[in-house]
Amino acid sequence: MERAPNLRRLTADSTSLLAALVESSDDAIYSNDLDGLVVTWNGAAERMFGYRADEMIGRPVSVIIPPELNQEKIIIDRLKRGEKVYHYETVRLAKDGRPVEVSLSIAAIRDCDGELIGVSKIARDITDRKHASAELEHAARLRLIVEAAPSGMVMVDQYGVIILVNAQMERLFGYPREEMLGATIEKLLPERYRGSHSSLREEFYQTPLVRAMGRGRDLYARRKDGSEFPVEIGLNPADTPEGPVVLAAVVDITERKRNEEALSQALDQLGSRAQTLEAMVAERTTHLEQTMQELEGISYGLSHDLRAPLRTIHSFSQIVLIEASDRLLHREIDLLQKTTASADKMDRLIQDCLAFNRVARAKFKTGTVDLDKLVRQIVTERAEFQPPRAVLEIEGALQPVLGDEGYLTQCITNVLDNAVKFVQPGRQPRIRIWSEMRDRSVRTWFEDNGIGVPENAKERIFGIFQRVHKDGYPGTGIGLAIARKAVERMGGRIGIESNSEQGSRFWVELEQT
Ligand code: ADP
Repeated sequence: MERAPNLRRLTADSTSLLAALVESSDDAIYSNDLDGLVVTWNGAAERMFGYRADEMIGRPVSVIIPPELNQEKIIIDRLKRGEKVYHYETVRLAKDGRPVEVSLSIAAIRDCDGELIGVSKIARDITDRKHASAELEHAARLRLIVEAAPSGMVMVDQYGVIILVNAQMERLFGYPREEMLGATIEKLLPERYRGSHSSLREEFYQTPLVRAMGRGRDLYARRKDGSEFPVEIGLNPADTPEGPVVLAAVVDITERKRNEEALSQALDQLGSRAQTLEAMVAERTTHLEQTMQELEGISYGLSHDLRAPLRTIHSFSQIVLIEASDRLLHREIDLLQKTTASADKMDRLIQDCLAFNRVARAKFKTGTVDLDKLVRQIVTERAEFQPPRAVLEIEGALQPVLGDEGYLTQCITNVLDNAVKFVQPGRQPRIRIWSEMRDRSVRTWFEDNGIGVPENAKERIFGIFQRVHKDGYPGTGIGLAIARKAVERMGGRIGIESNSEQGSRFWVELEQT
């Protein structure tokens, strides 16, 4: 076949032409023999992998193949078997260790007999393409997330134009997506806010920060049908190659607002009820206090006035007993004696009632009381507290306390009276007294060897007229009530620990000085 002169020249120069083409290619073109040693290495290969041609020629091509891939041997084996290997995507290693994503085309080099003598490869760097597709994938994934978000999500560019909305936005605002995309965000605001919003938006772009919108203000959005609803909006600014954007999350807070209002109404109602209640309690307390004062006055008067006729009964019976005993029958004397004893008993009762009344009403003079001195004085002054009638031991020095000396004397005397009284007949009362410091108070103990107090009566005995042991033990049931009232009025407490077999341990706790 006759060839045109130009074509003829071209054919003659084809080897050098091919070499020029290979050299000017942007793809790395290189070849190796069947032992894997590099035979040719073009300029693009130098740039792509960082090895110069003189470094690579004669060197195993495996230096650019990641060791775990072992691809070269597989390729040669397949070519030897006559199989075709076209191209595939893989990774190669540059001289500096950086991975290079490549699309590799492979061709067999055969001699004139068709014998395989080497392999030539064209490698195209697809790192950028890979990145681009990764970015696309990322963007697609983001879209899915935004789409599935439970809040309305809307993306707005720097001019306020809506460039993305999710399905929730369609539901919230009643617009189909295409009616929102391309419109300005003001479309979704009540008309009265539209004017000021664009300048707020511009301000935001000057100092974009992730934040909630409209701090301290109630925000409202407008649906397609013109109705409004309260919203909460979170702003997330972001920079994109196309310029700054804002992704806003929109939450309908109608329900929350309703709950808040209901709650604040309920609180208001509760507040006014509490006020009414307080007023009622205050009124009733005043009423009660008045009644108490009246009652106390009556009982004081009664107790006081009762003693006079009683004393008359007592003294007249005594006079008759003394002056006419020789003329009276035995039975008459017995009756008169019972009359004086009853009058005595009644007088004691009245006196105790008076004492209780006084403790309840008196003005207390609170000050430092030298408890040690006070208790020792009580013990010395009364024969019932001394041998042989009783043994009272004071262990160590009793700590001083804050209280009213007079009423404290009465309280301790009552406790000690009981301690020597409630003992089995024939047994000598033994009482131990000591005090201990407790935080900011002093607890003073009175331990006796008496008959004790049953568990179920420990609290009751401090009430007025409460007596557990009546047979053989005289009393009015007021002593401990007086003691408790006095201690409480001094800001202290009184109590008991008891074990019926081993006696009782009363304690009085008062503030230390
Ligand atoms: P009273 O001594 O006049 O009976 P109190 O008010 O002083 O009245 O005491 C109430 C009751 O508590 C007593 O009747 C008695 O049953 C019981 N009680 C008080 N102190 C003791 C004590 N140390 N040991 C056993 N019982 C006691």
